[in-house]
Amino acid sequence: VAKGRSLGVAGYDPRDDVNTRQRLALLGDLRRALSNDELYLVYQPKVSLTDGQVHSAEALLRWRHPERGLVPPDAFIPLAENTGLIGAITKHVLNLALAQARVWTDAGQPLKIAVNTSARNLHDEDFDRVVRGLLTEHGVDAGQLLLEVTESALMADPVRARQLLQSLAAQGVSISIDDFGAGYTSIKQLRSLPISELKVDRSFVQAMEQDAGEELIVRSVIELGRNLGLTTVAEGVETTEALVKLVSFGCDTAQGYVLAKPMPVAEFDRWRADWRGL
Ligand code: C2E
Ligand code: CA
Ligand code: CA
Ligand code: CA
Repeated sequence: VAKGRSLGVAGYDPRDDVNTRQRLALLGDLRRALSNDELYLVYQPKVSLTDGQVHSAEALLRWRHPERGLVPPDAFIPLAENTGLIGAITKHVLNLALAQARVWTDAGQPLKIAVNTSARNLHDEDFDRVVRGLLTEHGVDAGQLLLEVTESALMADPVRARQLLQSLAAQGVSISIDDFGAGYTSIKQLRSLPISELKVDRSFVQAMEQDAGEELIVRSVIELGRNLGLTTVAEGVETTEALVKLVSFGCDTAQGYVLAKPMPVAEFDRWRADWRGL
């Protein structure tokens, strides 16, 4: 039953059948997409607010569906998460991202690549082995990979998540907490995790423009990150005003449309060649 809809007395809603059928069809398509090269990555620069340079980029998944056109990740990642297909998808994403990291390194333009993970990946016994295997296969240094883990994924099973993250961090992989700010992770928990970066959820960054209360949240998260010795990142930065504010708050890194949208590799390379700093 879809969220936000009442079950009704009989618990039956014909719209659910339609939804279920559509989701099943999409799931079948997604399985096929994995082997058909329909999934590809776009890259969004993470720009340092200290030196104005691009040291890293976030890989974001795109699906070019043969009939539906571009399907946004929000429309298929949750489906993959609920059906277990996310393990194969994350592996595919890592494969593409590490191959690209290698290309940039070989071209003398190394970048740290940020890859998104799901809660399920953190509960997969094998995940650290998979990551290690792919790093070796592509000849990429673990220090060039950063895994973004959402705050909510961490909260789902903090003990298990901590073990897995510790194993990954011990290999040299960096860990970032994504969508931070609404999940009530305690300072104690944060300190017990082997993380190096805190990303302020873009909803706060965007609301900051109109609302002083939201601005206070952004400032507090940045201050918390700094006090814990973490790199702080603001995502979803859409205006110069927001960028200026973030600099004044001491935020380390920014990501957002005001700097660059997520781009396919060729476009990313052109953008990067033209980038002259802030
Ligand atoms: P996220 O990890 O929080 O990624 C940031 C999202 O904000 C991306 O949406 C990005 O395109 C968008 N964005 C970047 N700058 C701006 C901006 O200035 N303004 C606005 N309004 N949006 C901006 P996208 O690419 O549609 O991805 C949505 C979500 O899907 C991601 O949120 C992430 O949770 C998930 N996702 C994307 N790729 C992957 C993946 O490879 N694996 C997993 N597990 N999840 C992924
Ligand atoms: Ca992310
Ligand atoms: Ca995010
Ligand atoms: Ca998100």
